[in-house]
Amino acid sequence: MSKNIVILGAGYGGVLAATNIRKYLNKQQAKITVVNQYPTHQIITELHRLAAGSVSEQAVAMPLEKLFKGKDIDLKITKVDSFNVDKKEVKLSDGSALSYDVLIVGLGSKTAYFGIPGLEENSMVLKSAADANNIFKHIQERIAEYARTKNEADATILIGGGGLTGVELVGEIADIMPKLAESHGVDPKEVKLMLVEAGPKILPVLPDHLIERATKSLEARGVQFLTGLPVTNVEGNVIDLKDGQKITSNTFVWTGGVQGNPLVGESGLEVNRGRATVNEYLQSTSHKDVFVVGDSAVVFGEDGRPFPPTAQIAWQMGEQTGYNVYAYLENKAFKQFTQVNSGTLASLGRKDAVAIIGANSTPLKGLPASLMKEASNVRYLTHIKGLFSLAY
Ligand code: NAD
Repeated sequence: MSKNIVILGAGYGGVLAATNIRKYLNKQQAKITVVNQYPTHQIITELHRLAAGSVSEQAVAMPLEKLFKGKDIDLKITKVDSFNVDKKEVKLSDGSALSYDVLIVGLGSKTAYFGIPGLEENSMVLKSAADANNIFKHIQERIAEYARTKNEADATILIGGGGLTGVELVGEIADIMPKLAESHGVDPKEVKLMLVEAGPKILPVLPDHLIERATKSLEARGVQFLTGLPVTNVEGNVIDLKDGQKITSNTFVWTGGVQGNPLVGESGLEVNRGRATVNEYLQSTSHKDVFVVGDSAVVFGEDGRPFPPTAQIAWQMGEQTGYNVYAYLENKAFKQFTQVNSGTLASLGRKDAVAIIGANSTPLKGLPASLMKEASNVRYLTHIKGLFSLAY
């Protein structure tokens, strides 16, 4: 009898799980339903480029309809309102409900605001293509407004958080700013581009010499770093830092961190700090008919620390889960999840990047790192496009 597989989320984990299940189970054996809030699969590692208008939306958002064409995957474009793993029920925003034999949860993460007063209401985020479009439109409008009124807050762009998201975004904005400012008759030197980081350094995942290199490269393009200074409060366009200074900015983007999707915490699944705990097969530790992929799950490495919520891990988890769902339904042996760490790449705008590559964390900077970053994006796109054109 055909089994009913429901996949929540069409990010890296969800999409890769869907394709991989179809390698093992045909439509007579399994019905696959994918639920996603957007009609596209979004390459969120490239959103910073869309936020600076450096790429088109098509380059970072692929229509799911097209990806799933001819693959017998049912698509529901709507939000998941809630899901309950004890009742085996998923409630959707369009009013419908789904039941399942196997559920795959790949709902990603949410922006963390750490309870900082006024932060959520008064900042933009970079979590979707729509957010990225919004940031670019907003920056253009503020610079145009500055040209008219010379209100300094319109020429002040502040990024909150110096992790990979914040640094990649500030680098991209730094590259487009001279042209953008000049197109509005504004001297680029009048535009303040700042990044505030609570910790003592930006990009703490990278070795010090690469952090220094990244800092210098971005400072040379006008970025001002404020480190060791947590944002403590936001009121309207005034951002307070821990040392008492106030920054007035009409463009404040918050990239200060992510947390588990609250729907996961409310679902009845066993969780650890809001992310579902899973065994070595990516199966929920509390519910055997639920597999969890990407940022929604927490997987601990041999050192006892959780793997970071990255795209490359989500991708690998999705592929692995495809097989293990088949193994679960057909009573075959599971495969253990092993993570292959290909490194960390941080772009610093269009022509510069820093990276550590491979198991030995070989450092890389400049053009080779930029090319590597581009290659990793192309590799992913080729991979999923290839997978979807597979006949089964
Ligand atoms: P993050 O948690 O890695 O970084 C957030 C930064 O914000 C931290 O450095 C933190 O100290 C800072 N911060 C927190 N509170 C603050 C405050 N009150 N004031 C000022 N700064 C504050 O978040 P991220 O950069 O969005 O990354 C999330 C995950 O996605 C990470 O695992 C990252 O590795 C991954 N990612 C990877 C890439 C890539 O591989 N190129 C790109 C983007 C994100």
